[in-house]
Amino acid sequence: MREVALLVLGAGPAGLAAATEARSQGLDVLLLDENAAPGGQVHRGVGEFYRPSADAPGAAQAREGLALIEAARASGAEMRGGATFWAIEDDLTVSWSEGGTAHQARAGRVILCPGAVERALPIPGWTLPGVMGVGAAQILLKTAGLVPEGRTWMAGQGPLLWLYAAQLLAKGGTLAGIIDMSPAGAWRQAIRHLPMALMKPGPLLQGLSWMRRVRADVPVIRARDVEALGDGKLRGLRFDGREEAADLLLLHDGVVPNTQVTRALQGCAHVWDAAQASFRPVLDEWGNASLPGVMVAGDGGGIGGARAAALSGRIAAIEAARALGRLTAEQRDAAAGRPMLRRRSEMAPRAFLDALFPPLGMDRVADGTVVCRCEEVTAGRVRAAVSLGAQGPNQLKAFLRAGMGPCQGRVCGPVVHALVASSRGIAAGDLMPLRTRFPVKPITVAELATLK
Ligand SMILES: Cc1cc2nc3c(=O)[nH]c(=O)nc-3n(C[C@H](O)[C@H](O)[C@H](O)COP(=O)(O)OP(=O)(O)OC[C@H]3O[C@@H](n4cnc5c(N)ncnc54)[C@H](O)[C@@H]3O)c2cc1C
Repeated sequence: MREVALLVLGAGPAGLAAATEARSQGLDVLLLDENAAPGGQVHRGVGEFYRPSADAPGAAQAREGLALIEAARASGAEMRGGATFWAIEDDLTVSWSEGGTAHQARAGRVILCPGAVERALPIPGWTLPGVMGVGAAQILLKTAGLVPEGRTWMAGQGPLLWLYAAQLLAKGGTLAGIIDMSPAGAWRQAIRHLPMALMKPGPLLQGLSWMRRVRADVPVIRARDVEALGDGKLRGLRFDGREEAADLLLLHDGVVPNTQVTRALQGCAHVWDAAQASFRPVLDEWGNASLPGVMVAGDGGGIGGARAAALSGRIAAIEAARALGRLTAEQRDAAAGRPMLRRRSEMAPRAFLDALFPPLGMDRVADGTVVCRCEEVTAGRVRAAVSLGAQGPNQLKAFLRAGMGPCQGRVCGPVVHALVASSRGIAAGDLMPLRTRFPVKPITVAELATLK
C-alpha cells in the first residue's frame, strides 16, 4: 500500500495552509478533497468561476483564498480533487474514492480539515422544491455565478445569511424580503462579549456593512415562525398571520463543525460546546485529537472562520513535523509562536457572534414538521419515541431510522439531537452525539471492489 508522511483531508483554508506548511517542513503531503477545485466553502470557485469585483462583499477574502490556493499548488503537495474520503482505520490507513475507483494510503499522520456544515432549519414545508439552504444558494453563486430569479425570500439568522444577501445584491440579484428569526433579546447576552470582540473589530464592521447594504434595498421583517406553502412546489410563505407569494425560499440557522469523520473514529473524544451549541472533537492547542496520529484543524474542530482555520492548519502542520521527527519541540514552539498569537486574535469576535446568533431551538418546531428528510421522520414522531423511552439520537435510530439515510446524519443529526434534548427537558450536552459509521460517504460495491 502507498505510504505518505502526511495526509490532509479537506482543501479549505485549513487544509491548504496545513499542506503548504508541511511541505515547507520537508514532509511529503497528500491533500484530498471531494470538490474538483481547492478552496473549501469560503474560497469555493475562487480563481476559477468566482471573481468578485474589487469592492464586492467578500472580495478581499477571495484574494486571501487565491493566495492560499497558489501557495499550496506551488508547495509541491500532491493535491487531488474529486477525491471523497470515507474511512480511516486505526493504523491511519485512509480510504477514498476518485473517479469511481477506491484508493488507500497509509499515513504517518492525518490532519482532518472537513470544515463546517449548515445547521438545518426545519419549518413546515421545508422539503418542498423551491426551499433550500443559503449555503447551497451560495455554492451556485460561487461555482456558476447563478443568482435566483423570481420572488426570492430568505428566512432564519446568522452571519452567512447577511453575507449571501449582500453577495446576491452585488451580483445584480433581487430579494423580495428577509424574515429575521434571530431572538430579539440576543444582543443582551452578546453585549458582555463586545469588549473582547472590539479587539478585532474588522469582522463586526464588515457584518454591519453587509446588513446596512441589504436593509437599504430589502424589506427585513422580524418573525418567530415561518411556513413554506405549496403543493408539489413552493408557492408562498406564511409568517405573522400574513401570506406572501414566493418562488424560492432560502433558509439558514448558522453553521456547526462537520464531525462526521471524527465521530466515526472509535474512541475519539468529543465535547459539547455550549456557546456554539454543537459537539466538537477534544483537541489540544496543536490540533491533536485524543487518538494517536489524528489531528483536526479549521472549522471541523470548532467554528472560528476562514483566517483562524488557515492558522490552525499551519499550527497543526508544524506539530505534525515535530511528531514525524522533522522539528524538535523547541523548533516547533518557535515556528508556531506567531501563528498561535494571530489565531487568538482572529478568535476574539467569536464569543460575541455566538451569543448574538444562538440557534433557533426546537420548541418552535411543530409536531407535523419533517426533521429527518432522508427517512421522512417528523418532530412529532421523535417526541413520541422519546416518550416511549428513546433516550438519545443513537437509540432513536432503532425506533425511527432517523440519521440512517443517505445524509448519514449530516443534515438531521444536530436537529434530532436538539429535539430529543428538548423533549427530555435536559441539556443537549448531556446526550451522546449521534454515532456515525464508516463509510461516512455513500460508495458503490463496484467502487469497493476496485480496492486491491
Ligand atoms: C455552506 C457554507 C458556506 C460558507 N460560506 C462562507 C463564506 O462565504 N465566507 C466565510 O467567511 N465563511 C463561510 N463559511 C464558513 C467557512 O466554511 C469557514 O469559516 C472556513 O471555510 C473554514 O475553513 P475549513 O478549511 O475549516 O473548512 P472548509 O473551507 O469548509 O473546507 C473543508 C473541505 O473539506 C472537504 N471535505 C469535507 N468532507 C469531505 C470528504 N468526506 N471527502 C472529501 N472532502 C471532504 C470539503 O469539500 C471542503 O472543501 C461557510 C460555511 C458553510 C457551511
